[in-house]
Amino acid sequence: YNIRSNQLSENEKEFENVLRPLFFKDFGGQDKIIENLKIFVQAARLRGDALDHVLLHGPPGLGKTTLSSIIANELNVGFKVTSGPVLDKPGDLAGILTSLGKNDVLFIDEIHRLSPLIEEYLYSAMEDYRIDIMIDRGASARSIQIEIEPFTLVGATTRSGLLTSPLRTRFGINLHLEYYDVEALTSIVKRSATILNVLCDDSAAFEIASRSRGTPRICNALLRRVRDFAQVKGNGKIEKSIACFALEALNIDKYGLDEIDNKILLTIMDKFNGGPVGLTTISIALGEDPGTIEEVYEPFLVKEGFIKRTPRGREVTPLAYMHFGRPISEKQGI
Ligand code: ADP
Repeated sequence: YNIRSNQLSENEKEFENVLRPLFFKDFGGQDKIIENLKIFVQAARLRGDALDHVLLHGPPGLGKTTLSSIIANELNVGFKVTSGPVLDKPGDLAGILTSLGKNDVLFIDEIHRLSPLIEEYLYSAMEDYRIDIMIDRGASARSIQIEIEPFTLVGATTRSGLLTSPLRTRFGINLHLEYYDVEALTSIVKRSATILNVLCDDSAAFEIASRSRGTPRICNALLRRVRDFAQVKGNGKIEKSIACFALEALNIDKYGLDEIDNKILLTIMDKFNGGPVGLTTISIALGEDPGTIEEVYEPFLVKEGFIKRTPRGREVTPLAYMHFGRPISEKQGI
């Protein structure tokens, strides 16, 4: 189950949709963001205007898609979904924009992957609610202007560093989603269990939450797997013992670190004596893009205290050595 890929199977998508909160009241965590959004939404509704364009950035699975549909529901307007890589022809963009009703929400996922040409068209749509489209070619080529209804663009990205500044500045509301704490994830697990109609103890929910890498998508996916174990190996009820048994069997580690997390830590420990080592050097050793490491993989490791950012580069902490059951004295020079 690869949470970092947008390539979820139909079955997984269906499962996610069932568990997706529809209104602010069902959305656990991200308190500050929700508090602010509620005010912006209410103000837009009072004025009868479209909400300002919203940029949501943060790692995968934290609720960007969910929040965008909640915004539309709370505004009581229509909602359309597309994504950066899908929108490759100006005609497609024009088609979507002209189909929007007054104050509707258009969600563009992976907005950092829009082509420069499409981005160009989007500017005037966002600013003046109109698009200039070139029709015909050669001597008869001309540009026509199409008026569109006022709308709200909600853009989501895991890589805000890749956004061009003209695009970024066109978003009036700019929100960064953080990893969830275990308490918020525990509530999410309990809510999901209720929807799935399975009994889940508080202590079992806590166990699942603490191994979910701060990510609702992961806690829901783990709940689903643990439910299988409870049905086949237990009495159907999710208790702490069956949750622990299942999570062990699934090889989910105590902190919920995944394969790439472990690879990053081990690379710094084994190849660079625990660091400090520059981001570019790490990225070459891992064969991974430095921006992706910095924006997608590393923040959780920094937040949980496995990696320190220092002026001379990245350094793993004693916690990382402990995590792999290695003595910290392994790091030479200590
Ligand atoms: P993103 O778009 O950031 O990758 P999604 O919005 O698709 O993430 O969320 C992934 C899954 O996690 C969905 O099933 C969604 O219902 C669930 N989810 C995300 N955030 C929350 C939340 N705050 N409360 C409850 N469920 C959530």
